[in-house]
Amino acid sequence: MGEKMLALVFHGPGNLKLDDVEKPQARPGELIVEVKAAGICASDLRVFKGERSAKEGIILGHEVIGTIAEMGFGVDGFHEGDRVTLYPVVSCGLCFFCREGYPSICPDKRLFGFEYDGAFADYMRIPKEVVGRGNVLKVPETISDEEAALTEPLACSINGIETLKLQVGETLLIVGAGPMGLLTMKVARASGAGRIIVSELRKDRLDVARAMGADVVVNPKDGDVASMVKEETDGLGADAALVSIGSPAAALDALRAIRKGGRINFFAGFPPATVIALDPNLIHYGLVTITASQNSTLTQFRRALTLMETHRVELKDIVTHRYPLKDALKAFEGRLSLEGLKYELFPRF
Ligand SMILES: [Zn+2]
Ligand SMILES: [Zn+2]
Repeated sequence: MGEKMLALVFHGPGNLKLDDVEKPQARPGELIVEVKAAGICASDLRVFKGERSAKEGIILGHEVIGTIAEMGFGVDGFHEGDRVTLYPVVSCGLCFFCREGYPSICPDKRLFGFEYDGAFADYMRIPKEVVGRGNVLKVPETISDEEAALTEPLACSINGIETLKLQVGETLLIVGAGPMGLLTMKVARASGAGRIIVSELRKDRLDVARAMGADVVVNPKDGDVASMVKEETDGLGADAALVSIGSPAAALDALRAIRKGGRINFFAGFPPATVIALDPNLIHYGLVTITASQNSTLTQFRRALTLMETHRVELKDIVTHRYPLKDALKAFEGRLSLEGLKYELFPRF
């Protein structure tokens, strides 16, 4: 029997447990990372709620910073103690979609926290095939653990904005001011967005959006979002909209609030079996482009690190809750209540 460690294990929908599991040991070509911080993602909540599938018995978590604790035989380019983060998408690299630059829709894609054991643990194993693909990236010293654990969501935000083809000076509507909506707002700002309008039902989150630099905040409870956006844009509508919440009302608000020829990114996943009734002429006569993004590419992941290293985005205010790993269930409960923004877990609190 080897050493044990603590890990948050998925035992089926609604069933997460803190288990004592075998501490991984490096086999040839592998890295063992001692986890410093790991963020709870909306996708972890979806797995917990049964809205998204993950392998039973898997350790959740894919937003991670850690240090290399052990190196297997034959690993080059790293040293014990290196601070690293992990690009969690492991795609085949060979299929049509991989070659077209869309690893997230590779049919053979495997994700940490879904198919590979993830980061809500004292240690995580990086298998040989993942080390060999360049998914492990060194983190510059100037980026704190707390921020470095945001590399993956930040990369997703970069993907969200790039998918929208946002132009410098354009007006962007962000629907949903959760952690991802706000993180993406920061990327939009860094990318030269002109006016940023944020729509959100929770007043506390609208206040945060305003404090983080939104030019205009609107609450669907106060009236028609499309009308409010048009009032702010000389009757034109937003150039682009990013839907950062999986609700039909939010998607329809965005569709009606953009200008003719505008673009929409369905950035958040929707619960299974969601149906939206929409007027197709809104799209046809409006010449609307509907697009979507998920995850990120490895190059966007690298650029997320550069954005943090150069302080083009400041992320300290995104992380609102910090928990020791042993209180992971409490952290999930808090995050599910929509209290605050990003929650991070720390094995050594
Ligand atoms: Zn994530
Ligand atoms: Zn592929």
